[in-house]
Amino acid sequence: MSKSKNTLSKSTLIRSIQCAKSLYLYKKNYDLRDKTNYTQQQVFDRGHRIGKLAQQLFPDGRDCSPPNPYSYDPSVTATRLLMERKFPVIYEACFKYNGILVALDMLTFKDGKWYAHEVKSAMRISNTYLQDAAIQYYVITKSGIELEDFFIVNVNADYIFDEQLNVQQFFKSTSVLGEIKERIPFVETTIEKAIATLDLPSAPEMPIGVHCTKPYPCDFQGLCWKNIEKDSVWYLPGISMQEKNMLLEKGIEKIDQIIITEDLNVRQKVIIQAYQQNEIYTQTEKLDEFLEDIRYPLYFFDVEAFQPAIPLFKNTKPYERIPFLYSLHYKESADSELIHVDYISEIGADARELFIQHFLKSTEKAGKIVVFNTLMEKSVLFKLANDFPNHKNEIFERIKRIIDFEIPFKELFYYHPKQQGSFSLKAIGNAILNEDEFAKSTVKAGEEAMALYNELFYFEDKNEIATKLQQLKKYCQTDTFVLSKIFEKLKQ
Ligand code: SF4
Repeated sequence: MSKSKNTLSKSTLIRSIQCAKSLYLYKKNYDLRDKTNYTQQQVFDRGHRIGKLAQQLFPDGRDCSPPNPYSYDPSVTATRLLMERKFPVIYEACFKYNGILVALDMLTFKDGKWYAHEVKSAMRISNTYLQDAAIQYYVITKSGIELEDFFIVNVNADYIFDEQLNVQQFFKSTSVLGEIKERIPFVETTIEKAIATLDLPSAPEMPIGVHCTKPYPCDFQGLCWKNIEKDSVWYLPGISMQEKNMLLEKGIEKIDQIIITEDLNVRQKVIIQAYQQNEIYTQTEKLDEFLEDIRYPLYFFDVEAFQPAIPLFKNTKPYERIPFLYSLHYKESADSELIHVDYISEIGADARELFIQHFLKSTEKAGKIVVFNTLMEKSVLFKLANDFPNHKNEIFERIKRIIDFEIPFKELFYYHPKQQGSFSLKAIGNAILNEDEFAKSTVKAGEEAMALYNELFYFEDKNEIATKLQQLKKYCQTDTFVLSKIFEKLKQ
């Protein structure tokens, strides 16, 4: 026996809850899937690493992982044989019932009873995790095994790393037996529906919607969304999926077909009007007033931070934001040269103090510090001030000089139709500068930068690390370069 095209697993059932068409395509037209992007791959890898780490909670287990995703049956047999011998710890224990396969991270045997432990890399137990566990519980118990309890083992948000990782404290185990038992009728219905879907002669019709991205980004978006134009009502921000569906039902597919009525909010009205008239929208007085206050000399500043699930440095928590890179463009006067400086932390050591020293030195001359959306920069600087009190006063002085350059866009002092409803720096930069500066960068987004830097801790090739660090610097540099150019354009 092997994993046939109609075998269901925990993940395919979870997929079917999100969208029946996604299940069908996954099973019958697998080749139509989008390629896994870098950030998604990092999420998988992180889950795998955390799963391996959790095995230290119950050491010396026997691993029943299948040799490949298409031959689970030897793993089911191996699990059964180990259970017959009452083996105390089994990793990746596999079970099959009525064509449904599940693998459990850890199965333990103590005082004559079996306990299930499923590992999750998040700090919160979500409804999807409970559905996930309910499917596992259903298959395991239907296979004739009595489970004394079922635990979700996830990352403890309160854990603080000291000199060495304490695995017992890093993880938190929560019994979810009561909650998952309540979900068994739902599991049964889900299985019935999934089987019926797979019996269909072709993929079921399913309109695009919020389910394409929640709870997980669907990997058939490339297929289902390929004919949706950028001026479709789907890309109109600030209205619910239900409202978008209502517009579509009325035959309104494009933003420029929408009649501006009072029930739309200001942002929607501005976006629609700018689209329809293909004109820049400005509140000139407010924009002038905002820009009036920003005078040279100026620093244009951006920070990148990563959030390691497994803390790496003393006194940090899981997923804490650790700054690793900043870029500064400095301009003394309107006519002076744009000077660039940046800093990136070497892989390995805790370089937070070096980071802050470098930043303080680079910004010691007078001048406002212009940032696009200050949330990240300020939170990172406040945390550094807290963790390195010897630099506190100087950091606070820099924070006082920060100006949020997202305000004129967020408050609609300026809106360009080419922003196409987006308020990101990239969209604004492309619209105003009429050039995609980010296209020249290998790293394209903050999320990607964060994931890439995190991954470098697991790289061994020094040359490869050096190349990637340069790519990250280039990305951050583009951010502050674009910011400085947008400022100049608006000033003009
Ligand atoms: S992209 Fe949306 S509609 Fe298409 S299969 Fe995925 S979830 Fe379903």
